[in-house]
Amino acid sequence: MHKGLLIILSGPSGVGKGTIRKYFEKDERLNLAYSTSMTTRKPRDGEVDGKDYFFTSKENFQEAIKKGELLEYAEFVGNFYGTPLSEVERLRNEGKNVLLEIEVQGALQVQEKCPDAISIFIIPPSMEELEKRIRGRKSEPEEIIQQRLSKAANEMKMVPNYKYIVCNDDPKLAAELIETIVLRNIELEANKEV
Ligand code: 5GP
Repeated sequence: MHKGLLIILSGPSGVGKGTIRKYFEKDERLNLAYSTSMTTRKPRDGEVDGKDYFFTSKENFQEAIKKGELLEYAEFVGNFYGTPLSEVERLRNEGKNVLLEIEVQGALQVQEKCPDAISIFIIPPSMEELEKRIRGRKSEPEEIIQQRLSKAANEMKMVPNYKYIVCNDDPKLAAELIETIVLRNIELEANKEV
């Protein structure tokens, strides 16, 4: 069995990565496994530990960094987020195509470590629309919203580092484009092995 692909789904906070993922993750043709991240952020209403994130303390997170247990990590608006390495490797070795939904600093680290990763950047139809989406969550104080917005402007500058750019004007269409990208890469990978 060949090793699964590594797929990076990135883009500014609030652009709709999670919403898009829900449209395509059940597509069996993609043979996907979602990598659940670790974070020191507090859970939002409805978020489930072990499913949305592994919620943890700063101390545990630092420990994981020290022990080299993370494929990548980043600080984002006062909290840490990271990808547990062992789970990604286990799933890829089982032949699963592993999906990382991560911000841009972490995406860069993965691109450096795994140049074969398929990197997809989601852009909003406009910065005004992005602001509307970030505010629409209604889960965070104004100060954090402002930090996310100013961060988003910088994150948009990372676009040239990605192989594929998808605009999230309509999440279902964005999901279909991502399906096409992943399916084509599965095909290319299979052809390499012949
Ligand atoms: P949120 O607090 O909105 O859930 O996440 C904030 C940002 O961190 C989002 O852009 C999200 O995609 C990103 N993120 C989630 N998990 C990880 C991770 O494991 N590593 C990195 N680098 N970013 C992550």
